[in-house]
Amino acid sequence: MPGLEDLYREIILDHYRSPRNRGELPSPPAIRVEGFNPLCGDEIVVYLDVADDVVQDIRIAGQGCSISQSSASMMSTAVKGKTIDEVRELSRAFKAMMSIHEQSLDGDDVGDGDEEAADDAALGPDLKLGDLEALRGVVKFPVRIKCATLSWNTLAQGIAEAADDLRDEPTD
Ligand code: ZN
Repeated sequence: MPGLEDLYREIILDHYRSPRNRGELPSPPAIRVEGFNPLCGDEIVVYLDVADDVVQDIRIAGQGCSISQSSASMMSTAVKGKTIDEVRELSRAFKAMMSIHEQSLDGDDVGDGDEEAADDAALGPDLKLGDLEALRGVVKFPVRIKCATLSWNTLAQGIAEAADDLRDEPTD
């Protein structure tokens, strides 16, 4: 019987081989942000179309290792159609998943599991990490964590620009 790790590996490889939302959007009007992870040579370009406070469309370009590219693919499906607030929540949850394990790898006793319970509570009922859970295993390889979080950091930059743009729009 295949274990959870095999299932996770399958999900990651599936996103790597058949990346979702791959491509570009005309920019402008779309926001274009680039991210680079020098540790591994990963590049991610995120194209964002945000209107009415919602991620209407997202496209991913770039190249790199399977972790960085599959993470970007999963991220794109997770945030498409979500509000900016929901995207920020997802991003927090994903990074929490990564950093909690980062701490426990340092040998600190992270303790009694309260952190993980708090994590689940932080996500609204409609927000699920879904396939992104498959990246949990990455935390066993600390050098790859930057590969997994690259697309989220790049997205965060784009969301910040989108939020600025929305603020600049005349309100009547
Ligand atoms: Zn990488």
